[in-house]
Amino acid sequence: MGLAYNVYLDSHRVYGCKTCKTHLSNHDDIISRNFRGQHGKAYLFDMVVNITESEPNERNMTTGKHVVRDIHCRQCKETVGWKYDKAYEQAEKYKEGKFILEAELLCTVT
Ligand SMILES: [Zn+2]
Repeated sequence: MGLAYNVYLDSHRVYGCKTCKTHLSNHDDIISRNFRGQHGKAYLFDMVVNITESEPNERNMTTGKHVVRDIHCRQCKETVGWKYDKAYEQAEKYKEGKFILEAELLCTVT
């Protein structure tokens, strides 16, 4: 039971960490595919599991200033995306508490 703390997702389509295949989120939890990360295409997720969060820091993005935290795979420590703590623009508030995972860093686990 070495991975006892890892959450095992059981939907028809699960996204995992590309490096170690640890489950990170469900296909059904994607809010938007219209995002870009450091490695290209990125998705906004409602819920992500098996990650650790860094300290928050302010970042200027194309959509304005946000407070974000990098998120890392809990198993292999690879950076997989970031979480939005706070958005200053009213139009961007829906992202607060949500997660970005970079498509390039994900694999599909079926
Ligand atoms: Zn991993």
